[in-house]
Amino acid sequence: MVKNIAVIRGDGIGPEIVEQAIKVLDRVAELYGHTFNYTDVDMGGCAIDKYGAPLPEDELQKCLDSDSVLLGAVGGNKWNDVPGHLRPEKGLLRLRAGMGVYSNNRPAKIWRQLSDASPLKKEIVEKGIDFIIVRELIGGIYFGEHKTEGDTAVDVLRYSEAEIERIGRIGFETAQKRNKKLCSVEKSNVLDSSRLWKKVMHRLAAEYPDVELSDMLVDNCAMQIVKDPAQFDVIVTENMFGDILSDEASMITGSIGMIPSSSLGASSCGLYEPIHGSAPDIAGKDIANPIGTILSAAMMLRFSFDMPNEADAIEKAVSDYLDAGYRTADIMGEGMTLVGCKQCGKLIIDNLKKK
Ligand code: NAD
Repeated sequence: MVKNIAVIRGDGIGPEIVEQAIKVLDRVAELYGHTFNYTDVDMGGCAIDKYGAPLPEDELQKCLDSDSVLLGAVGGNKWNDVPGHLRPEKGLLRLRAGMGVYSNNRPAKIWRQLSDASPLKKEIVEKGIDFIIVRELIGGIYFGEHKTEGDTAVDVLRYSEAEIERIGRIGFETAQKRNKKLCSVEKSNVLDSSRLWKKVMHRLAAEYPDVELSDMLVDNCAMQIVKDPAQFDVIVTENMFGDILSDEASMITGSIGMIPSSSLGASSCGLYEPIHGSAPDIAGKDIANPIGTILSAAMMLRFSFDMPNEADAIEKAVSDYLDAGYRTADIMGEGMTLVGCKQCGKLIIDNLKKK
């Protein structure tokens, strides 16, 4: 198969981690007889420096013309003082909205080899951590009106029934493919938008009788994720709650550097990125963990290109790498072998075999 991939390296550690993921994709192409063509796209701080905007129209168009987009990360201290509408992260919001990717899927799964890296108590980790957060990605407070007047600032949180329904369906369908438990997370004791959210979820539940739906307030959910993560199968929630909860969930699995994500809309063209940011504190030092990006590339093969064997092969190569005791600094443990970003990529590629 021939696939065209738009590649956004971005800022900070972005270029380093994306380079490793592309090498992995190239090896997969070799093994399975595919052709992956890459188109470089400038987004984030690097685009601000080059064009004066975080995602110019032509760069967005390259993404819309592709079969899928692979993204490293954007942002950094250098662009902290630019006006709000020009910030690197605005490029990301524009990309998500432009691609219409309303559903962000973030797995929170602990690799058995990394159970010691979790900050949670051993007895909690041993019960198993394996759930998915389905986050609404192009609505809610991040996309509402933002304004500051004098000493008062306003951010508008708005959701329509249609927006809630389409992400709700993804939540139910994701649960159907797993353990059939869906937890809808909101703040219906305070927010109107959450009361609407809850109402729509319960209306949809009638169409998915095989899925057990539960409700949880977001503050309780934040607590339950560290107290008893094994209770969750699929969590579905709105944009900002999902943003916060998925960072929390990533941390209990060991490192933010390990977690991939997919964002999909109505078409098969998806956006694939690790959940972490551009990590300016470690950029350019060859110490970043590229696994979140490599696993994001695997998700791209699985969800957008219908290449499940190729995706399995990448995940197996990562597992074998961990079994062999190699670790980047973020997940380093006693008796393990410390490797850098490039060496991590190379070792995973060496493990890649056709299934
Ligand atoms: P961050 O995720 O970049 O870093 C948080 C911590 O995790 C840092 O200590 C960092 O060194 C570490 N870390 C992150 N990724 C790692 C990896 N692959 N390997 C090893 N360690 C890793 O979050 P932050 O520091 O709050 O944000 C830095 C910049 O990234 C900011 O400009 C922020 O706006 C931006 N950001 C971008 C995205 C994105 O592009 N999707 C997401 C979040 C933050």
